[in-house]
Amino acid sequence: MMSERGMVIVGGGMAGARAIVSLRANGYEGPITLVSEETLLPYDRPPLSKAMLLEEKEPQPVHLLDDGMIASLGAIFVRGVKAVGLDRKAKALVLEDGRAISYDKLLIATGAKPRRLSIEGGELAYTLRDFADGDHLRHRLRQSRSAAIIGGGFIGLEVASSARKLGLDVTLVEAQPRILMRGVPEEIARVVHARHVEAGVTMQVGTALKAVETDGVRLADDRKVTAEIVVAGIGAAPEISLAQGAGLAIDNGIACDARLQTSDPDIYAAGDCCSFPHGLFGNKRMRLEAWRNATDQANVASENMLGGSKPYMAVPWFWSDQYDLSLQIAGNPADGPEIVKRQTGEQSFVMFHRDHEGRLVGASGIGPGNSIARDVKLAEMLIGKRAAPSAEQLADPSVQLKVLLKG
Ligand code: FAD
Ligand code: NAP
Repeated sequence: MMSERGMVIVGGGMAGARAIVSLRANGYEGPITLVSEETLLPYDRPPLSKAMLLEEKEPQPVHLLDDGMIASLGAIFVRGVKAVGLDRKAKALVLEDGRAISYDKLLIATGAKPRRLSIEGGELAYTLRDFADGDHLRHRLRQSRSAAIIGGGFIGLEVASSARKLGLDVTLVEAQPRILMRGVPEEIARVVHARHVEAGVTMQVGTALKAVETDGVRLADDRKVTAEIVVAGIGAAPEISLAQGAGLAIDNGIACDARLQTSDPDIYAAGDCCSFPHGLFGNKRMRLEAWRNATDQANVASENMLGGSKPYMAVPWFWSDQYDLSLQIAGNPADGPEIVKRQTGEQSFVMFHRDHEGRLVGASGIGPGNSIARDVKLAEMLIGKRAAPSAEQLADPSVQLKVLLKG
């Protein structure tokens, strides 16, 4: 018989929303409570830096669940209330309004929060994480003629692309010698860089920043970039305060085992806040900040909260859209020192990353629209199968990846 405590999920983003569906899909019939500090129903974040900034009409969130779905799933949604504490002994989540919600199993899906610039005037820069940030940024971009964007990561580049489409003068400042320094191979980053230059963005790479000012930014060498709006996309930090406060193990995120169980057997974590050993990559501990990872981890954590013992083995995958280009990365390219390039079209290519044993561990591609989607998908399946295709096969576009999958 089910106890009345049930499953409690803290964090109403991608992972939290998915977990409700997944718990029910796995046959759980007891109480489910989702606690979110946001007042909105769970919504998708990827449009916030892309389509939403360009919308002519007042944008609406792209909801992941609506009231009807939550009701039909029989879940209780506690919204607009932050969880501020975790009483592990009593197995209760403590909310800021003083309520305590008891759990049988708890899923922490609290995501990540934008890093803030610590330089002088850093608080003047906009950051982008939630719908309100996107809405505000959309309005400000429409009122401005120029933007300075700090950080050549995904937020910075996607916002730069949107701002150029809106006709602003855009300068992007990246401290590292190149954009997308972490996680994206140099050859792909070069294509992205060139596309931004072609679109008219002034790219200042290898350039440190001294201060944010009311009318732009001051570079370390004292040059001034005048801009009506300054946006910082300098990374995100996992939201671990609940876990940390409750004494759970932390290791670049909430430290979980391969089953996404934290150091407390009744508490699991999923999504941007979760660090875990990945079985496909020698149990290397990683934390992934990507949409599909949040979905996949919510599925695995839900199954294990119900008594399963499934390790998380999904191949990492994410995408970014900028102008007409889409880039996609599968697996863990950093683990594959041998790179083989396949030209898949006039303007599209996929790079395969092989480890020391010749095993395919990563694939990264770029091209217009959907041009590389199929090849990256097949590469993802090869990575999942721990396949070791030869460099010649991978380089030759006449060899179908589908055929290699059967081999
Ligand atoms: P989140 O979506 O961050 O949800 C966490 C939720 O928990 C939030 O609502 C937060 O307010 C809430 N919360 C936190 N602490 C508490 C608390 N104490 N009490 C109650 N609630 C709490 N990924 C891609 O793969 N491709 C993309 O193109 C892409 N684009 C993106 C664009 C933007 C602008 C952003 C911000 C992210 C993008 N991502 C993209 C990343 C992707 O959206 C995230 O990886 C995903 O949202 C992570 O889901 P999550 O559920 O772990 O965390
Ligand atoms: P990000 O992709 O990690 O990129 C941050 C960039 O800012 C990096 O290039 C970083 O360089 C640089 N940086 C860090 N500190 C800096 C500083 N003080 N001054 C100047 N540059 C600095 O993070 P993000 O673009 O801010 O995105 C935030 C979150 O949203 C992430 O979780 C991201 O995955 C998610 N997101 C994802 C997508 C997508 O997948 N398409 C799109 C938008 C947002 P270093 O390498 O030196 O740190």
